[in-house]
Amino acid sequence: TDIRELLLSRIRDVADYPEPGVMFKDITPLLADPAAFTALTDALAGIAERTGATKVVGLEARGFILAAPVAVRAGLGFIPVRKAGKLPGATLSQAYDLEYGSAEIEVHAEDLRGEDRVLVVDDVLATGGTAEASLQLIRRAGAEVAGLAVLMELGFLGGRARLEPALTGAPLEAL
Ligand code: IMP
Repeated sequence: TDIRELLLSRIRDVADYPEPGVMFKDITPLLADPAAFTALTDALAGIAERTGATKVVGLEARGFILAAPVAVRAGLGFIPVRKAGKLPGATLSQAYDLEYGSAEIEVHAEDLRGEDRVLVVDDVLATGGTAEASLQLIRRAGAEVAGLAVLMELGFLGGRARLEPALTGAPLEAL
């Protein structure tokens, strides 16, 4: 479809970044193009509306850039999920494994409530580890997952299959 072509045309492949053998998907050309950024924001806001989301979570750091305008466009609150140690208030945290070592993400506990349905937004779904941890965090906060929406899914890494249990039937949409 048109939007898919537009978005793809604004994502740059950078070879051997951040390490040899990795083909990095760089979204900065898309962010610099107002037509493409607007089309992306509108498409993600449409997903927020269709899934009945009441909050939009962005995953640090590129997820913030996409999720914030989506929240504004959809008329919903924006909630940051941050790397450990960055949020000043009382937090819930979730650890997850990386290829080498582990990482931890956090959310302000008071930002999510039992009646919330949360759409998680990020730029790239790779192995699914980051998204999986965020879905676990949202459930542990007592809220419901409305869906996970990403600009791009790297299908060969198998993130979709990994995420199936954590999604518990909520949609994973990759534009
Ligand atoms: P995962 O946890 O392996 O799915 O990695 C996803 C996280 O790493 C997301 O927060 C992305 O922002 C980031 N990421 C992984 N690969 C890329 C890429 O090629 N371009 C941009 N971000 C990436």
